[in-house]
Amino acid sequence: MAETDMRRFDGVAVVGAGAAGVSAAVEAARLGARVLILEASGRAGGVVRLAHEVRNFPGGARTGAGIAEMFGAQVVQWGIPLERRLVKSVTAGAGRVVLADGGGWALEAAAAVVATGTAPVMPEIPGMPASFGQDSGVFSSACSALAGIPPSSAAVIGGFDVAFDQARLLAGRGVATCVLCRRRVPAAPPWLVEAARTEGVAILSGLEVSKVCGRAGEWRLETAGSGGMADGPVPVVESVVIAVGRKPVLPVMDCGASPLVRVAGDALGRPGRYLSAAMADGCLAVRDLLCGGVSNGGLR
Ligand SMILES: Cc1cc2nc3c(=O)[nH]c(=O)nc-3n(C[C@H](O)[C@H](O)[C@H](O)COP(=O)(O)OP(=O)(O)OC[C@H]3O[C@@H](n4cnc5c(N)ncnc54)[C@H](O)[C@@H]3O)c2cc1C
Repeated sequence: MAETDMRRFDGVAVVGAGAAGVSAAVEAARLGARVLILEASGRAGGVVRLAHEVRNFPGGARTGAGIAEMFGAQVVQWGIPLERRLVKSVTAGAGRVVLADGGGWALEAAAAVVATGTAPVMPEIPGMPASFGQDSGVFSSACSALAGIPPSSAAVIGGFDVAFDQARLLAGRGVATCVLCRRRVPAAPPWLVEAARTEGVAILSGLEVSKVCGRAGEWRLETAGSGGMADGPVPVVESVVIAVGRKPVLPVMDCGASPLVRVAGDALGRPGRYLSAAMADGCLAVRDLLCGGVSNGGLR
């Protein structure tokens, strides 16, 4: 077993540098606390970086990448150290929190905010390849991966905001794109569905994908259901993008009801995930840790 190199940090350790983590870290810095961000990817921004267009952000519509860069700039502006680190466990004991990567690195902090976000849900559809990515031509909703070599055609499976957002992203890159969704009326807001359609995305609703047939570069989707909107038949496509939902990802947490650890943002697993909610969560988590009714002697 690897020896553990335990470092002591007399401040708030924030795990994750998405909207919630960056907002938590900035709030901690603003309140005068010492703060450190531990981020698996090594850069700030989180999942919003994937978004084609975010309209509900102050100042008007922006690309997700633009917003992610703003979070990065905020971290720099506040002089908050950001370490590349995949945190695998968070354990709270008497008056301290230990964060570890399972490979010999550990940090003992005064408090922690866990803002680790979500990962795409993968539905069990018969015929789905075992691996995702460029080789199989089947992607998760993190489909910016398609950016390298855009396919000529793609089918997006899913009916919520992320499915339509990613369909617009693909259509904008010249990919012949359709969205297949189970509900007759897609769950995404009407303006988003309309924007996608106006930009050339074909919408096939009221259809459940029951089987994926074919091979990389030539996928055929078998469907069941009577159909709702149908901008044409289900085509044979080069790539498939799965965007049926996202589920929280958390390190192994052994914290009980510790007053020294808070979870914030999408990692909370609430229905309806929004940037503004994640940002508010991050701020409130830190205010709760630093200014709440709990004793946090020495944090500030
Ligand atoms: C395609 C798409 C489009 C969207 N469009 C909109 C929109 O238009 N409007 C809107 O309001 N919302 C939108 N959202 C939702 C919004 O982006 C999220 O609700 C918000 O960004 C979540 O922020 P977060 O900080 O909770 O999580 P995330 O942004 O997921 O950040 C989590 C961070 O934690 C890191 N991490 C994870 N595990 C670990 C670990 N163990 N150790 C260290 N680091 C770790 C990850 O690398 C990541 O950087 C969209 C989401 C997607 C996917």
